[in-house]
Amino acid sequence: MPDLTHNLSLAGNYLQRFRDRPTTHFINGAWTAPDGDTFDNLTPVDNSSLGKVAAGSAADVDAACDAAEQAFPAWRDLSGQERKRILHRFADLLEARAEEIALVESMDCGQALRFMKQAAVRGAANFRFFADKAPEARNGQALYQPEHSNLTLRTPIGPVGVITPWNTPFMLATWKIAPALAAGCTIVHKPAEFSPLTAAILAEVSEEAGLPPGVWNMVNGFGETAGKRLTEHPAIRAVAFVGESVTGSHIMAQGAPTLKRMHFELGGKNPVIVFDDADFERALDAVVFMLYSLNGQRCTSSSRLLVQSGIRDRFMQALEARVRNLRVGHPLDPDTEVGPLIHSSHFEKVLSYMDIAREDGANIAVGGHKFQGDGVDSNGNYVQPTLFADASNSMRIAREEIFGPVLTALTFDTEEEAIATANDSPYGLAAYAWTSDQGRALRLAHKIETGMLWINSENNRNLPSPFGGVKMSGIGRDGGDYSFEFYMETKNVCMAHGTHKVPELGKR
Ligand code: NAD
Repeated sequence: MPDLTHNLSLAGNYLQRFRDRPTTHFINGAWTAPDGDTFDNLTPVDNSSLGKVAAGSAADVDAACDAAEQAFPAWRDLSGQERKRILHRFADLLEARAEEIALVESMDCGQALRFMKQAAVRGAANFRFFADKAPEARNGQALYQPEHSNLTLRTPIGPVGVITPWNTPFMLATWKIAPALAAGCTIVHKPAEFSPLTAAILAEVSEEAGLPPGVWNMVNGFGETAGKRLTEHPAIRAVAFVGESVTGSHIMAQGAPTLKRMHFELGGKNPVIVFDDADFERALDAVVFMLYSLNGQRCTSSSRLLVQSGIRDRFMQALEARVRNLRVGHPLDPDTEVGPLIHSSHFEKVLSYMDIAREDGANIAVGGHKFQGDGVDSNGNYVQPTLFADASNSMRIAREEIFGPVLTALTFDTEEEAIATANDSPYGLAAYAWTSDQGRALRLAHKIETGMLWINSENNRNLPSPFGGVKMSGIGRDGGDYSFEFYMETKNVCMAHGTHKVPELGKR
């Protein structure tokens, strides 16, 4: 298997062009000139610059939205078969650049290469899945009445704004953009300022795949400027947003004057409930994986462990040993399990919860500090994998999304208590339960306030299934036809059979 030195050399080659010239915007099928404001894109590995990135202005966003508006009628009217062909070509091109995408994403975001290796394959799978659905996207229903027949038609809603975060930015962008394009919408993508590089690769691929100019536009920059303008622009009919809950509130307010349709995938504080009758080893594997993979920067991470009192001591002991064993290191090291956090500001935020935990009286069973060790740069954003034990659900470490390799563990006695604790949260994105009692699993399914519940499993992806959250975790669902529901308008056409009596006003 290639080692760190080899991967660094390969990554260096792929990253050189981003260092050589600023990453600009892709508008109406062309890259903009590098003549506006820029900012440095820092790698979490050591906080050195990977290159300059254009800071999009309102005027840049306006140009992108105008292009998306101009391109919309022709893309909407293209046959579903043709859209399918182009989107499959897009997926082929992603797969051909899999190595580059994985290495660039790892260096840009700090995610371990072992998890990013599959990024292009998963992104391509998103495109293929929705490409295959493109020909049927417009299908509707026939609804019968005795003297009328109703026909529902679906049409793409129009140009869509797609705003993505910095955790797994490549995967999330493909997850939102693929269904929008398959439905017949044009898009303006605003990637996160902390992780712009694979968004540039996606825009390049859109050109190569033969998407007509203006169908895919990408504007880099900050949320408060470029992102805000995108959510306000009158040509944009809908906003697909993935990010923090508080940003979702801002975006909803920004889009209110133009009455935009909103789809929000937001934060979470997802419970994993391990009952005494769980398969101990599988539950343990899943608890470790669902928090510490992707550096804990995963919306569906199970960041609140609820463990039943009968197995509590044994489970916590085994968990502590596993957390202590996690391999922190350079993201391009094939052995690394936990890499550096995205940005120094986020790193500081995660570290601040160590003090909050101490003040609240939690026990820091493992970790609790910046990680320093062989093979990692002391300027990087490395945090020790951390386990807070003996927490209570009222503590901030149990209520707030920390979004780092930090797990908060609580104990419960009864099923009712577990359900009440799981639901005592402002969030409701995902939940996990480990039990061998099928009846209990079904009771939990009905009672836990969540958009998604996995029973005896870590997060398993199924593209036709609905993905999304309740409460402060989101509005709307992605996946399968749920995505088309968002990106399309439904029109009802009511046709009379010619037999009903039409009201005859003014007749004498
Ligand atoms: P963030 O909300 O800070 O930023 C997300 C995007 O919004 C960025 O592109 C940013 O530039 C933009 N933005 C910021 N302010 C804006 C504004 N006023 N108007 C328009 N755009 C604006 O989120 P983040 O810190 O990048 O990402 C982490 C968050 O994303 C976590 O809360 C995580 O749970 C969430 N997330 C949720 C899901 C899900 O499926 N529910 C998936 C991944 C991440």
